[in-house]
Amino acid sequence: MSDYFPTIGLEVHAELATATKMFCRSKNDPDEKEPNVNICPVCMAHPGTLPVINKAAVRHVLRVGTAVGGSIADFTEFDRKNYFYPDIPKGYQISQYKYPLISGGTLNGVALTRIHLEEDTARSQHEGTQSLIDYNRAGVPLMELVTEPVIHDSKTAGAFARELQLLLRYLGASEANMEKGEMRVEANISISKDPNKFGTKVEVKNINSFSAVERAIEYELKRHEEVLESGGTIAQETRGWDDVKQKTFSQRTKENAFDYRYFPDPDLPKLKVNEIEEFKNIKATLPELPWERRERLSREFGLRAEAVEIFVNDEQAGTFFEHVAEALKNDKELSALASNYITTDIAALTKTVGVTTAAFNPVYIADLVRLVKMGEIGSRGAKDLLALMAKDSRDPKTIAEEHGLFQKSDAGAIEKIVDEVIATNAAVFAEYKAGKAASLQFLIGQGMKLSKGSANPGMLKEIFEKKLS
Ligand code: ADP
Ligand code: MG
Repeated sequence: MSDYFPTIGLEVHAELATATKMFCRSKNDPDEKEPNVNICPVCMAHPGTLPVINKAAVRHVLRVGTAVGGSIADFTEFDRKNYFYPDIPKGYQISQYKYPLISGGTLNGVALTRIHLEEDTARSQHEGTQSLIDYNRAGVPLMELVTEPVIHDSKTAGAFARELQLLLRYLGASEANMEKGEMRVEANISISKDPNKFGTKVEVKNINSFSAVERAIEYELKRHEEVLESGGTIAQETRGWDDVKQKTFSQRTKENAFDYRYFPDPDLPKLKVNEIEEFKNIKATLPELPWERRERLSREFGLRAEAVEIFVNDEQAGTFFEHVAEALKNDKELSALASNYITTDIAALTKTVGVTTAAFNPVYIADLVRLVKMGEIGSRGAKDLLALMAKDSRDPKTIAEEHGLFQKSDAGAIEKIVDEVIATNAAVFAEYKAGKAASLQFLIGQGMKLSKGSANPGMLKEIFEKKLS
């Protein structure tokens, strides 16, 4: 293994889900296809216009900050970050520099430095010698979250980004789709032989998926080591991730890094957040958070970790499970059984016949689980019943009756099946009689097959054993 110590810090931007932009009333619609329609004199930086702070955007950041246990600033302000580029019509971006809205906090075990609020830039598209600019995105509220340099492997970085996406979605703060650029992760990476001393860091941008976060970090860690081992030095630079080539490439080096000449924006008021009435009890506005839900699902129902993860990440499946559990009066054992059917059989039906949990009535799934628990329906029968229930909205009892799915526990009927199996599998039965225990399983299997899964396997076993003597 490598004797270098890797250090990673992340900077994540997320477009906030607000009706209007950060400093004006233009619509904030990430799905707008027609370019340059959601614009106005303010976000187009016409002279004489004045920005107004979007309260909903501030609220989103305060909620995220409160959820991660960060501290809300007593005093905060917006700063101008000056640079010239066509995607920034004012010639500066309004951001926060010295006094971010949130300081500190922890997410997924990673310490956070700060969370601040700024505005997004326009979207530029370069085609040959021409550049096209869409200002619909200019001025969209953008949250920036910065972690401390306390991550030491790519998996932890990926897990952090996934958890942040989940949190943003739970809070309704952002759709946070990475492919759509609603959430953008930049990774800062360095390696050093001395764990107490940082190496030179490189920042990687243009990462558009969670797996790319991990692969870009892996790629850089390896590249750093190769450069250092061959006697070279790491240049402090910004690199881009090329998802096609699965490589990073140099974009700009420290030599031409910008001097942004930050200064407080004189057009905007300073904020004393703690004095704003509606921001006084942000905590009470938070929903159940992903990690709280995870903890509750495993504590209340003893669900498998995989099932918990499915319900925490997939809102539809999670809500469906909660409805079934409710119909089962939150009985731990029955709910855990229901969770198995939802995460395995119903999930499989989603793949094969395209139904989702939406096709099922949670009360009927609860009924099915009770039938299984009481031994009235076997596991084979339950699978068939679920497949039927996907297309039939009647209650499971009616459907099971109609299709003969109830487990046969009538001794006479089972004995008939056993006799038939023995008659057609005389050789195997002889082996079983001679002491080959494994043959019994085969015979029971034949009995299940013959009864189309409706025979009670326990009774089949009992009667086969009786036939021995
Ligand atoms: P810059 O001024 O270049 O933006 P910052 O100190 O603001 O640098 O840090 C930006 C990000 O880089 C943070 O996420 C931080 O954790 C991370 N970072 C800082 N130093 C290192 C390092 N040596 N290796 C890896 N990441 C680092
Ligand atoms: Mg930075």
